[in-house]
Amino acid sequence: MSLQDHAEELASDLGVDTAEVRSELETLDKYDVPIDEAKQTVRRRYDTDGDDGGEVPSKDVAAITADDGSVSTTAVVLTAGKRSIQYGGDTHVIQEGELADETGRISYTDWEGFDLEPGATVRVGNANTREWEGEPELNLGEGTTVESAAESLSVPYDVGGEATLADLDPGDRGVTVEVQVLEAESRTIDGRDGETEIISGVVGDETARLPFTDWDPRPELREGSVRIENAYVREFRGVPSVNASEFSTVSPLKGTVEVADSAERRSIRAAVEAGGLFDVELVGSVVAVRDGSGLIERCPECGRVIDGGQCRSHGAVEGEDDLRVKAILDDGTGTVTVVLDAELTAEIYGGGLEAAREHARDAMDRSVVADDIRAAIVGREFRARGSLTVDEYGANLTARSFEQRRDDPTARARAILEVAK
Ligand SMILES: [Zn+2]
Repeated sequence: MSLQDHAEELASDLGVDTAEVRSELETLDKYDVPIDEAKQTVRRRYDTDGDDGGEVPSKDVAAITADDGSVSTTAVVLTAGKRSIQYGGDTHVIQEGELADETGRISYTDWEGFDLEPGATVRVGNANTREWEGEPELNLGEGTTVESAAESLSVPYDVGGEATLADLDPGDRGVTVEVQVLEAESRTIDGRDGETEIISGVVGDETARLPFTDWDPRPELREGSVRIENAYVREFRGVPSVNASEFSTVSPLKGTVEVADSAERRSIRAAVEAGGLFDVELVGSVVAVRDGSGLIERCPECGRVIDGGQCRSHGAVEGEDDLRVKAILDDGTGTVTVVLDAELTAEIYGGGLEAAREHARDAMDRSVVADDIRAAIVGREFRARGSLTVDEYGANLTARSFEQRRDDPTARARAILEVAK
């Protein structure tokens, strides 16, 4: 059934206008709410309206649930961020952020341009509730009213969205951070309006380093220390990422934002339980080098590692040689697969792609490269630093550095034996 069919069915059930129901379903669909759940939400809203003549319950923020349907509350605006979204071929500007009272805080999305001002205390009437990222959220839509409250509330939260990078969580909106740009790279992506240039990279402050994307590339976000206002936070490969939109403000800072230069050291178990970390240091022993390491072949179309000249997506292709290592690191609390790129692999192997090809040619066997790597690292202790992702394929650390521990007891023992020979 199409959205229109669902809307017609529901509208006739409820005895209301189809267009009205359709617009509510569209709004929920925009948020990827499954259609059955969306229909329930709309049904509940109309049922409630019918039962109590449109009286909407007034609640403290902490008491609001995703199932309330419609609710009114008085709260302080903590943050207000603007963002444009694509929907039905059109661009809609929405505003979003957080509201709070003495009991708690809640996210909101403003579809109607109420222009909530951070710090203001407002009376929100007849907002709709829904679940967003596992929490209740208020939607300020057509039927909603927003007025200045008679009295200001004081709340135990910071107003204005100033945050350190370590504070950020996916879903945060209207955020202000002061950071140093550590890496920035221009990329062309296939956007809705054809090819679009964006900038992505890494920013840091004294608490953390995180990836960022600037969707409206501006020169200020290329280097140096900057203040980014009205950013939003998304999840990128299991870690929060700072997003600057056309509505964000980026201004250079006079001073330099200090950046934590060492990655956070965690046990493997703690890192995996964190569900992904952008910059983490793990120390353990390499217990195995997995298949698909050494001199490998990639599909020229998609870059996937291929076997026997067959790509899963592109069929028979002329593979391109590359070097890679997938090593299993174990620290006694857990294991991760550390993935080394061609450069880090060359350091461990003691030679680059040309050396590896020659080695394989001489031996008439490509697996000799992986064998040498295995002999060089298995049973030794390494300090691996990089981005950890945890998903259905397991825990993978994409390494930025991979160094043998100088105080490695195995290496020390080996060195002593060498001398004794
Ligand atoms: Zn492919």
